[in-house]
Amino acid sequence: MARACYSLAHGKERPCFSEKGGPVQTDYLIVGAGASGLAFADALTAGTDVDVTLVDRRPAVGGHWRDAYSFVRLHTPSAFYGVSSMPLGEDRLDEEGFYERASGPELHRYFDAVAGRLVASGRTRILTGHEHLGAEAGAELIRDGRGGQRRITVRRKVVDARYLEASVPATHAPPFDVAPGATVTGIHQLPESVRTGARYTVIGAGKTAVDACTWLLSENVGPDRIRWIRPRDAWFHDRRDFQPLDQVGATMAGIALDAEAAAQATDLQEMLERLESGGRLLRIDPSAPADMYRAAMLSSGELEALREIDDVVRLGHVRRIEADRIRLERGEIPTDASVIHVDCTARGLNDAPARPVFQPGRIVLQQVRHNSPSFNAALIGHVESRGGEDTDNNRLCTSNPYPRSIRDWPRMCAATWRVEHRWASDRELATWVAGTRLNLLAALPKHAHTPVVRDAVQRYVTNVGAAIGRLDAMPHPPSERQ
Ligand SMILES: Cc1cc2nc3c(=O)[nH]c(=O)nc-3n(C[C@H](O)[C@H](O)[C@H](O)COP(=O)(O)OP(=O)(O)OC[C@H]3O[C@@H](n4cnc5c(N)ncnc54)[C@H](O)[C@@H]3O)c2cc1C
Repeated sequence: MARACYSLAHGKERPCFSEKGGPVQTDYLIVGAGASGLAFADALTAGTDVDVTLVDRRPAVGGHWRDAYSFVRLHTPSAFYGVSSMPLGEDRLDEEGFYERASGPELHRYFDAVAGRLVASGRTRILTGHEHLGAEAGAELIRDGRGGQRRITVRRKVVDARYLEASVPATHAPPFDVAPGATVTGIHQLPESVRTGARYTVIGAGKTAVDACTWLLSENVGPDRIRWIRPRDAWFHDRRDFQPLDQVGATMAGIALDAEAAAQATDLQEMLERLESGGRLLRIDPSAPADMYRAAMLSSGELEALREIDDVVRLGHVRRIEADRIRLERGEIPTDASVIHVDCTARGLNDAPARPVFQPGRIVLQQVRHNSPSFNAALIGHVESRGGEDTDNNRLCTSNPYPRSIRDWPRMCAATWRVEHRWASDRELATWVAGTRLNLLAALPKHAHTPVVRDAVQRYVTNVGAAIGRLDAMPHPPSERQ
């Protein structure tokens, strides 16, 4: 039988199948040992004594965080990220008064420790550097780093924990041409590329571009030396509204505002105006129409700094970078060899369409409650640990695809509120949801007596039913109003 193969101390792979090893059997084969695969395995094994095998083609667990740029951080607090059974960080407050957010190296250490704990249970093995190739003749085919193939017989289910695999700068190719003589750098190469006096052109409108600009500004690159190509403008959340523990009141107040705005607005445009005027949604430039929405977060300090960058190019997507010009969809702008072009166009979140989470012999991990990837994977793991019928489990774990545009906001919020209502009427699940550290709202009962929480819960309860009905029927505004 295969042995544990993940070393807690170094996060390094050790051989886990004996070279002569015979056929391997397991109850669950989890494909992908990123945050989702690990959170699922942690929750599943907490409630059962099943045998689990995780495989990942990367050399270590943690998924895309292993290839992230050196200055990456979570954009949500560590307090509700990771796996249910192991805290991440110490719930310290940062200089802006928000709960701490883990850096890349902290995440690596954390996921190594999670892997070590899973393996130490004796019921889980983790095969890093192994790629799942698919099913063949009743077994799952795995290729190891040396090109050898193994067959794994799965007694219960194959868990697809890479359906929403992230696309990150290190593993993505620019979606535009780069002519000979022109140079483009990825955000992960930015620290080595920084030169005194250089100018920068940051390409992309999402969280990666925000990180690149914020990092440059923090390195004392003046805003006048940054040009920002934003093919479309984005909506962001205020980090203040996604705080757990003692700041859960602000989070609940934000959710109450969502429900109120949805229940009362006649269309998406009016709802956005309400949410923006309430500070729930932010634009870097409130005078520019925004459409993109990837649920990314900013603090007011970051927003203020980003607003200092005046040179914003809105000529659509970049088509080609040449030595002396950048060609875009709707025009061209000059450039030269002194400019460092930073490609921040990796899509990050995966836009895969909705699939049933529970299928015969298979589980496909997806978003259920919006903006909560760790929670969702653990939720699905916990529901699986209880057994039950796929139909019932799918009602508790409804696929809720990641948003691309703010026009996805109504669909996404309605799906979350509907499924949360179902959790509440399942006593065992409601207890699990209330108790897991991955639940952003876990501290609500503790603060239920405070006026801010009482008022927010009341406003939410009053409005959520009407909000779901209104969001389901909401006509989308014409794109020029975005
Ligand atoms: C830059 C960035 C920042 C983010 N920040 C946050 C945040 O602050 N808070 C938050 O809640 N969410 C955040 N997210 C969302 C993020 O997607 C999740 O937090 C989470 O890390 C995703 O993990 P995952 O396991 O679903 O995907 P991944 O990390 O992509 O892991 C999937 C794994 O599957 C493996 N794999 C794929 N195919 C195969 C195969 N055939 N065989 C074997 N292995 C395979 C891959 O190697 C990979 O390691 C962020 C996303 C990005 C891209």
